[in-house]
Formats: sequence, structure tokens, C-alpha cells
Amino acid sequence: MRASSASGSDNGGLNGSLGRQLVLATLVFGIVFTGAAVAVRTWSAWQANLAAMTAELTLIDQVFQRTLSKAIWEMDRDALQTHVNGVAQVSPVGRVELRLLQNGRTTELMAQRREGAQPSQRAPVLHRQLNYEPYPGASEVVGELTLEGDERVLWERLRGELAGIVLTQLIQSLLLAGLVMWVFNRTVTVHVRRMARHLGALTPQTLDHRLRLERAPGRRDELSLLESGVNQLQGNLSDYLERQRRDERDLAAHRDRLAELVDEQTAELRAANAQLEELSRSDPLTGLANRRHFDEVKDVEFRRAQRLNQPLSVLLCDVDFFKRYNDTYGHALGDDCLRLIAQTLRETFGRAGELAARIGGEEFAVLLPAVDAEQAHAAAERLREALAGRDIPHSASQVAPRVTLSIGVAQFDPETMDRFDALLHRADQALYRAKRQGRDRVAA
Ligand code: GH3
Ligand code: MG
Ligand code: MG
Repeated sequence: MRASSASGSDNGGLNGSLGRQLVLATLVFGIVFTGAAVAVRTWSAWQANLAAMTAELTLIDQVFQRTLSKAIWEMDRDALQTHVNGVAQVSPVGRVELRLLQNGRTTELMAQRREGAQPSQRAPVLHRQLNYEPYPGASEVVGELTLEGDERVLWERLRGELAGIVLTQLIQSLLLAGLVMWVFNRTVTVHVRRMARHLGALTPQTLDHRLRLERAPGRRDELSLLESGVNQLQGNLSDYLERQRRDERDLAAHRDRLAELVDEQTAELRAANAQLEELSRSDPLTGLANRRHFDEVKDVEFRRAQRLNQPLSVLLCDVDFFKRYNDTYGHALGDDCLRLIAQTLRETFGRAGELAARIGGEEFAVLLPAVDAEQAHAAAERLREALAGRDIPHSASQVAPRVTLSIGVAQFDPETMDRFDALLHRADQALYRAKRQGRDRVAA
């Protein structure tokens, strides 16, 4: 929408208004019409001039008839010549010819051309017999008079009239063109311009500004059709835009809700995943790390110890006479006992990097990175003492009246061990020794 089309003072960037085109067409038509009208009127003026000239020649003939006839009868040549010269001077005569007749024969020809007059095909020619009546009742033909009109007079008269014809026709055409332009401008051009300005200023926000042409109300023509068409179009467009805005709002709301749902579900999924991960790595009975987790961590720690050349120790713990515990107190109390042992393990090995896991029914393993055999032995003793401190009764045990552990300790030896299982095997052997040596003890 260009700003220039909305301005009222200029012609809105048009290179020709409808009114002007109409005027040009009217002018062209006027010129052609003027040409045709001028031709017709000139032709009829010419005809009228011919008739007028014939009438004038007839009048001249009537004036000179008697004097010429008398002069011929009397054979008065001087008088004849004078009369002929006289007739030739009278406008619009171009040429005078007089034939003298005697006894039915031409005896003489007298002719006189007016000065400057040329022989003409166009000018009228008048032939008259000259009769003389010497006494009443005796009429005799004495000659023939021929009067030729002067063509120059015809042209001169026509020229005088032509200017008037052309001028009146031109004025007529110009007045007509002016009238057409004025009427067209009042009835069409101003309204079309108003529409163009209205449409040029339209924006999505001003769609409800209706187009009102300043015309007599109740007029029904092409302009009023156009006016109502523009208003209808604006109405439809406005409705359409409103619908679109509403749909966009709904869509945005749905999008937001969807994003919220996705966020919620993602959070739930993450939590579930974390829980699953946790479950897959922990022992359900005691909450300690399970065998699987222990296997994952042990390999990492084994490689770290190899790489950094650091000590790594492992403890293998087995509950003494646990079968008898179950047999004595029942399986449920057996589970409780395992949970208490696990709690003791957690409390004893809480440092970063230390990992206690349940790796079998009543067997536990502890991974101690950066800890040598001596420190590991001490830690195992601390564990044994801590469990003793809990003093869980076990009346069926052969070593003590309480629940006890046998613990095998082994330290990683880079010289002889290339896999963690070798270290575990060494710890297992130590545990076996602890059992053999009487249980409730630590063996390395
Ligand atoms: P030792 O001193 O030689 O280790 O004797 P022990 O009885 O502890 O060893 P044994 O391997 O004969 O018995 C282990 C028992 O541990 C057998 C089983 O009933 C019990 N046990 C294994 N897992 C569980 C468990 O999850 N809960 C309970 N309550 N008992 C278990
Ligand atoms: Mg066992
Ligand atoms: Mg046992």
C-alpha cells in the first residue's frame, strides 16, 4: 500500500485520469465530426452560392434584356459595345457573349471577359434569347446572350462562410468535450479516487472502517455495486483474520500445554530411569551395591590401580554358621540379621571410593582403593569389632554367642595379577583360611 496513493492533492501517481482519457476521446471524435460537418456544410454553402449566382445572373439578364435587344435592332454598334462592357463590369459576371442574329443566321459575335476572370467549369452559365418587339404583337429574335458567372466570386464567398462554419463547429466540439468531462468527473472520477485512497490506507487494524461514497443515498449503479463489494470484501477479510488469530492463540496454548506435558513426562521418565538404574545396581534386601555393580566398579578400580601404580585391597566377608542362624531364628530374622550386617558395613566403609557390596547369600565384599594389605587388615578388624559391638545374638554359633564374620584380605600385586579375579581368588583363599583357623577372624 503506497503512501502516495493516499494523498489527495496530487493525482495519486496516475499517469492519466479516466476523465482526461474520456475528454481526449471526445476531442478526437469532435475533430473527426467537425471535419465531416464542415465538409457537408461547405458543400451545401457552395450549392447555395451557385443558386444565388444563377439568380443574380438572371436578374442582370432581365435588367439588360430590353436595352440590348433595342441596340441590336437598331444596329447601334457603339451602344452595343458600351452595354456589353457595362454588363461585364457587373459582379458576379465573369464573361458576356452576345450573338447578333439576322434572318436566322449569326452575323456577329461580341464577347467581353471581366478583368482577371478565367474560363470556369464550375460557375453557372445563363443562355437567353433576345427578343425585340418593334410594334405590339410582332416579336422577333434578334440575338442570344450568354452570361458566365465569375468563379472567383464563388470562392471568395465560400471563404467568408468557411471561417464561420469551422469556428462554430470547433466551439461546439469543445463545449461538448468540456461538458462530458465535467459530468464524468462529478459522477465517476471523484468517487473512484476516493475508493483508491480508502483502499490504499487499509491495514489489518482498519478493516472495520467502511467505505462511504459521498453520493445521494439510494442510488443504485455500478459505483454503488463496487462500494458494497469493497465493504463485503473487508468484512470477509476481517472475519478471516479474527479466525486466524483465534486459531493461533489456541495453537500456542496447545503447544504450551504439550511442552508442559513433555516436560512432566520427561521428568517422570528420568526419575523412573534413575530408580531403575539404582535398583539394577543395588541389592533389594540390604540396599548395598549388588554383584553387578560391584563387578562394574571393580574393573574400573583395578585398571586405575594398574595405571597409577596404587595399592588396591579387597575384603571378602562370610557370616559364620548362618545356616544354623536361619534354622534357629527363622528366615525372616535371618534377613533382618543380614540387614544389620549391611548397616554395619555401610558405617565402617563410608569414605569416598570405598564400596561395600552383597555378592552372595551371606557373603559381602569390600573394595578399598589406595589401601594396602596392612591398612585393609586393620579395616577388617574394625568391621569385626563394630559387628561385635552390635552384639546380635546367635545361640547356635560354635565360636561366639553372637553373630560373627570371617574375613579374607588380599592386596593387588601387579607382578602376579593381571585380572581382578586373581585378586578376588586370593581373598577367597584367605577367607577359607580364616574359616579353617576357627572363624570370627581376619586372614590375609
Ligand atoms: P560357614 O560358617 O561355614 O559359612 O557356615 P554357614 O552355615 O554360614 O554356611 P553355608 O554355606 O552352609 O550356609 C549358608 C546359609 O545362608 C544357607 C542359607 O540358608 C543362608 N542364606 C543364604 N541367603 C540367605 C538369605 O537371603 N536370607 C536368609 N535368611 N538366609 C540366607
Ligand atoms: Mg557362605
Ligand atoms: Mg557362612
